[in-house]
Amino acid sequence: MSSKAVLIIYTGGTIGMMEDPDTGSLIPFDFQHLAEQMPELRRFGAKLKGVTFPKPIDSSDINISDWKQIAQLIEKNYADFDGFVVLHGTDTMAYSASALSFMLEGLQKPVIFTGSQLPIGVLRTDGKENLITAIELAATSGQNRTAFTEVGVYFGSSLYRGNRTHKYSTENFNAINSPNFPALAEAGIHIVFRYDLFWPQAEESLHVRDQFNDRVSVLKLFPGMRPEMVQAITRNPELKGLILETFGSGNAPRSEWFLKEMKYLQDSGVVVINVSQCSTGFIDQGKYETSAAFDSLGIVAGSDLTFEAALVKLMWLLGQGIEVSEVRRKMGESIRGELTSYDELV
Ligand code: ASP
Repeated sequence: MSSKAVLIIYTGGTIGMMEDPDTGSLIPFDFQHLAEQMPELRRFGAKLKGVTFPKPIDSSDINISDWKQIAQLIEKNYADFDGFVVLHGTDTMAYSASALSFMLEGLQKPVIFTGSQLPIGVLRTDGKENLITAIELAATSGQNRTAFTEVGVYFGSSLYRGNRTHKYSTENFNAINSPNFPALAEAGIHIVFRYDLFWPQAEESLHVRDQFNDRVSVLKLFPGMRPEMVQAITRNPELKGLILETFGSGNAPRSEWFLKEMKYLQDSGVVVINVSQCSTGFIDQGKYETSAAFDSLGIVAGSDLTFEAALVKLMWLLGQGIEVSEVRRKMGESIRGELTSYDELV
């Protein structure tokens, strides 16, 4: 490996956890301990430096302020490192990788999220391979056409676009997948890259946009919904954005009360995004009568966005101080490769 410099940001997660001697539960420990568990790190040709969150967390506790902290660490160290590895719990890794992909505008270096299913101190850990390959990937930056200059997630031998990922298994070592977009690299004996799929290298320089608006909510449709339960969400005066998790290719009940709620949201300037409860495929509004009214109600078809990317993108766009019409428009188009445009799909 070349003598590149890689910064490893440890936020917490199983990869660096150990058993609490009193309770037997897994609790995070600091990066110094992690490095002690992995003397292999000293054998890297790359210059490695580790920074730890002051209080490492289980990723179920992750918050917008933590995304800001990761972005700030990258910004502060940007000039001194060729790439960044973010060690993070798997539970919410897809949300955080999506968030960073939007926040790091003009990114020209690799940012690779990874973690593990078993702590690094455990004999059968998947953490060592994940960390070693993530470091190798973070050290492959370069100023050329084939440089990886986006936020990725490396897990279980595949490198994915971060804002396309989803945690789909609590059990498998391949806990993360990318349901609607191919892997950008596969690590076998050699690391085989899909350069043709890489997000184009930014021309401008790094600009961290770290404002979010958290006045959003989620409505997962199910047969037998009651109006007053739905209204507890739709009539909330604070609401600015809503993810509608619909059936199949974007379908919803045709009941009068439900469409009235959707109209109420449109009139109140709430941005509504239609994403599917299916794990693969895309939203096709108007294909069935059960979604025919959506376009005229201003509901944005979320194409093949994952739920995680849709939610984070909505919070981020609503935080950018742009018009509601602009938020709606941008939700339907690709900003960082998070969705496939309809021209490419059909
Ligand atoms: N609960 C852990 C977390 O997300 C699981 C993991 O690290 O994979 O932080």
